[in-house]
Amino acid sequence: MNTQQLLILGSTGSIGTQTLDIVRAHPEKFELYGLTAKSNWKILADQINELRPAYGLICDEEHFQDLRDAVTHKQTVLLSGEEAMDSLICEDQVDTVVNSLVGFSGFRPTVTALSSGKKVALANKESLVVGGALLAPYLNGNYDRLIPIDSEHSAILQCLTGETINTVDKLIITASGGPFLKWPLDKIASATVNDALNHPNWDMGSKISIDSATMMNKGLEIIEAHWLFGISVDRIEAVIHPQSVIHSMVLFNDGSIKSQMGLPDMRLPIQYALSYPDRWPLESRQMNWESPRELTFEPVDLRKFPCFELALQSTRMDAYSPAILNASNEIAVERFLNREISYIQISEIVAKSLSHINNSDTLSVSSLEDVDRETRAFARVI
Ligand code: MG
Repeated sequence: MNTQQLLILGSTGSIGTQTLDIVRAHPEKFELYGLTAKSNWKILADQINELRPAYGLICDEEHFQDLRDAVTHKQTVLLSGEEAMDSLICEDQVDTVVNSLVGFSGFRPTVTALSSGKKVALANKESLVVGGALLAPYLNGNYDRLIPIDSEHSAILQCLTGETINTVDKLIITASGGPFLKWPLDKIASATVNDALNHPNWDMGSKISIDSATMMNKGLEIIEAHWLFGISVDRIEAVIHPQSVIHSMVLFNDGSIKSQMGLPDMRLPIQYALSYPDRWPLESRQMNWESPRELTFEPVDLRKFPCFELALQSTRMDAYSPAILNASNEIAVERFLNREISYIQISEIVAKSLSHINNSDTLSVSSLEDVDRETRAFARVI
């Protein structure tokens, strides 16, 4: 394969910066077409000065001048605003769009990229959670258009390699259980922001860290897997695996289970999404078999993780419910991080939003945006 022209949406976040580590490790495989950031102009400027993409874009227009002043590599064309981002995605030269935007804001760029024929390496699970029905036509049982970066879905994709989907009995998604796995139920209700951000195995952005603590993340991942692999939600299970070594499993119809293992390192699923269907070398920490090691499993305690149950419920409601779930959760997490609400109120806000918001329009990108907007307004004031 020739070099891939990469456009990285959200290059200054946790996934974006690790994607750039992969680019640095394999300079012969990539050309950087563009880097985008929401507002972090300082890191974006450093990345542009070092890696010299053709384009650099900041979404928040108020930081455009800061970015211009900080960029010393004057051959990079600097842009601002979301419309300019849409145009960049559609540029002919772009082969692969890495979507590591956070939340619903990543949905429209995924639609734009797929509809303009790009390959999408997807870290933005919300794209599939809210709009899986609209993205399904691009999937077609092939995984070469929309390739997951999420570690669980990367694991499942690796397990499915060489198999056919009609031999799959179940997908088994592993969950670390987050920081509250061993906490008693009554103590979780009063957990603080710092408690919830303290993830045992993965170092991630603050939104996904809170989603891991509530296990909303695992609920979103089940919905994501449903659309990505075309398997019904009732054939996707979550199991707690506190060591985060087995990243997920597939149970086949002869009783055989395949799993993908490795020490937690997001660079691996990022690289696999970019190399798929090939596998490239990566310098990473290796499993050490010289001392005893336990891999343990336990069921999800639904009393401790109401957000997980709400996510599953949303799939049994109408086509908009996962979008309502997602939007209300984004606002509830933001309010929790701002110390406006308590930990237990996150699930309460999501539950109230699911029962309050309705929509009967035919599903489309703009109808989903309407529902998203309406849900956010509601979730902000309850
Ligand atoms: Mg994940």
